[in-house]
Amino acid sequence: MNRHRPVRTEIRWNGAHYVASCQNCGQPLRRVGKGRWREAPPDESAPA
Ligand SMILES: [Zn+2]
Repeated sequence: MNRHRPVRTEIRWNGAHYVASCQNCGQPLRRVGKGRWREAPPDESAPA
């Protein structure tokens, strides 16, 4: 599965990327490009 959907209410800017949790699998996501989301590395999902 390469489809991830962010929880819209969780979308936030972490200083480098938009991040949110996935509605489907709960993993942290990072927005890449227009409307595309990928699993984010742990260092990017954590608050600074
Ligand atoms: Zn997912």
